[in-house]
Amino acid sequence: MGKAAKRTRENRTITVDFRDEATYFHLLGDGKAFLECVLAFMLSLGFQLLHKATCDGGGCLTRHSHYVRVRLGGVTIWRVQCTTCRAVFTVLPHFVLRYRQMRPEVARDALLATHGGLSLELCAVLYHLSPMALYRLVCALGHHSLVAVLTRCGLPLPTYFLADEKHSRCLTDKVYLPTIVTGRVLWHLGYTTEASTAAFTESYQVFQRAASQQEPSYRVRGILTDGFDSTTKSLRMLFPGARLGTCLRHALNKLPKKLAAIPSPVRKALRSKFHTLLYRARQRQGLRVFALGQRLRHFVDHVATTAGTANGERVRRWFREKKAGWYAVLADPQMPVTSTLLDQAHNAIERKLFMMKGFHHPSGSQQAFLTGLAHLYNLIPYQRRAQHAGQCGVEVEGGHVPTADWFLNLQILTSGGFRYAMPHSTT
Ligand SMILES: [Zn+2]
Repeated sequence: MGKAAKRTRENRTITVDFRDEATYFHLLGDGKAFLECVLAFMLSLGFQLLHKATCDGGGCLTRHSHYVRVRLGGVTIWRVQCTTCRAVFTVLPHFVLRYRQMRPEVARDALLATHGGLSLELCAVLYHLSPMALYRLVCALGHHSLVAVLTRCGLPLPTYFLADEKHSRCLTDKVYLPTIVTGRVLWHLGYTTEASTAAFTESYQVFQRAASQQEPSYRVRGILTDGFDSTTKSLRMLFPGARLGTCLRHALNKLPKKLAAIPSPVRKALRSKFHTLLYRARQRQGLRVFALGQRLRHFVDHVATTAGTANGERVRRWFREKKAGWYAVLADPQMPVTSTLLDQAHNAIERKLFMMKGFHHPSGSQQAFLTGLAHLYNLIPYQRRAQHAGQCGVEVEGGHVPTADWFLNLQILTSGGFRYAMPHSTT
């Protein structure tokens, strides 16, 4: 953790689907047909090449040079060059992974098993790999930002999102995973060793920077958290003007803990009354905020009469501290109301981390590894008996993936040489 990102040459590798290996080997002998195939593939995706900043991409492509991957049985890999800006793109056929000897079909199965919660060690045994090779593959995917990949799928940057930190462990040390979720998609999965405002700000800022780079006018309208102080402070700093709400379901689950020394049926009755109160407040648009303030006061009085003044006072103090966050949720109909989907994402990630010794290593590449897992979370389709069977998170949220094959999508979308051509920005 903390190692500064090495300044590397711009990654202009592109993965191209040549359908089958025979087609690829046939095209190697015909430069013109090879280039046409590459261009047709990009056109079908709606992608453009990432030229140098000064280039409008309107020039021609030529075959530039080639090299031979000895360890892959001598596969020839071509580079193509823009005749205007001289940017060079490495064209990887779909059956080759960047810098890797591993075959895509092996990587696909091993990653799917990893995503499903199998340990790296077990995946390695099943697919005849070294656990480290699999760990490094996930990390390599994680070097591509979530924002870049998700916007390449046509997803708009989120104007409302859920943010919270998952508590985890690295050996005996406590660590935190600051997370940003909208619906079924992870936009950020960070890693910090402290729960301070400064640490969380640094982590959430990675998302904020990537998003602003993508879209300089990017503004967040609303964020739902569970109200933890470091979280709200860091988000307020990074996204000034955003409405900060606190999760209503958390509130509901917290109430019984505020009620001490009373019989269980009384506690249950109060919780159910509180549930009705929040539920009704959500139903009434417009008048909701006013109605909530009044009803919270009535509820406190009710607690005092049924559970004693000490409990009444504790609940009153708690309401005073939290109600601004509830108002924020209720004042804007587009605000997310509960953080259930974020909890689901955290549970899914936790199931994997629990299994992975590679993660629990103080000098491991935790951040890259987590981002790699987040890509899998976003792009692997749900199993066939799930609610959104056959779709991945990106698709559930209205994004488009390049092909029907999730692993090919992962290869294409984490290709550094592609640029998403916004449909509306082509003038
Ligand atoms: Zn160019």
